Amino acid sequence: MKSRAGDYCWFLCRALPVRDDAGRIVNWFGTCTDIESFKRVEQALRETKAAAESANRSKDQFLAALSHELRTPLTPVLMLAANLREDERLPAGVREQLGMMERNIALEGRLIDDLLDTSAIASGKLRLHRQLCDTHSLIRLAMEIVRDAALTKEINVECELNASRSGLMTDPARFQQVIWNLLRNGVKFTPRGGRVFIRTSDQAANRLRIEIIDNGIGIAPAALAKIFLPFEQVAIAGDQRFGGLGLGLAIARAIVDLHDGQISAQSGGVNLGATFIVEFPEATFPPSGLATTAPPSASGISASGRAALRPLRLLLVEDHLPTLQVLSSLLTRQGHQVVAVGTIAEALAAANAQAFNLVISDLGLPDGTGNQLMEKLRFVHGLKGIALSGYGMDEDLKRSREAGFVTHLVKPVQMEELRRAIVQLS
Ligand code: ADP
Repeated sequence: MKSRAGDYCWFLCRALPVRDDAGRIVNWFGTCTDIESFKRVEQALRETKAAAESANRSKDQFLAALSHELRTPLTPVLMLAANLREDERLPAGVREQLGMMERNIALEGRLIDDLLDTSAIASGKLRLHRQLCDTHSLIRLAMEIVRDAALTKEINVECELNASRSGLMTDPARFQQVIWNLLRNGVKFTPRGGRVFIRTSDQAANRLRIEIIDNGIGIAPAALAKIFLPFEQVAIAGDQRFGGLGLGLAIARAIVDLHDGQISAQSGGVNLGATFIVEFPEATFPPSGLATTAPPSASGISASGRAALRPLRLLLVEDHLPTLQVLSSLLTRQGHQVVAVGTIAEALAAANAQAFNLVISDLGLPDGTGNQLMEKLRFVHGLKGIALSGYGMDEDLKRSREAGFVTHLVKPVQMEELRRAIVQLS
């Protein structure tokens, strides 16, 4: 309705007929309500919701871009360190230090993964790639990963894997991530000389229970409910600092939730140790000879990956110059002929001028995306490709596969990983 001042306001007008016994209208009953303020609030809510959704999208894009930027410079350093560590002419002490550099860079890569996982969880995009696994083998692999850290602190990590139903339809990498996070916390929050213990048992209704028990600094009762929230860390009295982002348990809980399982923590209180309990439904007997995923190699290169490498003509496309140089020289040293370029235009020109066996390409290039390049190279020259990228979200992997990349390696790429991918493709 138009007001006396000339502006329009919202009114809700209703009219109901009042009838006599014969059904004739004898009266009209009506209301006219000023709903201007209601409409305004509704509009403000709509705008706030749209703004929040847009901020959330920006946050996801920001996290993906940030992880890309953080990963990119790690790749050449990781590759050089790995390569030097293998050089038998160098003194053992130096090679050991290079191994330490390598492990820490790999760890940095994992922190970036945690940030990405958190954003995937928040937007409901975390997916499981399930297969039937023997959880006991996965637990042993996770124990391997924390072994170095435990040895340094003289902490005993022991297990009692008693469950007979240790088979589970799970995503082996994600399952390991849960166990690894809990074991890592056990080691981290237990003083030197302590003990971390992991045991499994069968529960009623085919449930598998896994308990990770430590005799460390413990958790105050008030904090128990909060530690599974992202970025939540318990304040510790004194100067002791443990580092970390406070994401491990939030990620673990999200993964367990996707399995319809439960995760919880118990502690008698400060300095009385902590117990984390994870339960999964639908556990089965483990068929023998199940495949498991190997843990990310922290210190060594597997002997099986040492298969002979056929010299190939490689087209290498990467706009980050240090990465291009290091990759090019390492691949050349492995016996390949490498043409190294920084743009799509140069790559297409090179592919027109000579034949290649394989293209290895970054995805973010100055004159387009690696996916666009791959589509053309596959269509015109029938080439196969390996994508190297700082973007590791499920959608990125899907898109690069659709473009024709056979393998997608996420930066920081380890030379051994790349070597294996090349052997597979050739
Ligand atoms: P982060 O370890 O990076 O801080 P987490 O999400 O793994 O992140 O853990 C959140 C918090 O829960 C930790 O900061 C710590 O305060 C507490 N916590 C986790 N595990 C233990 C444990 N085994 N003993 C004592 N406190 C723990």
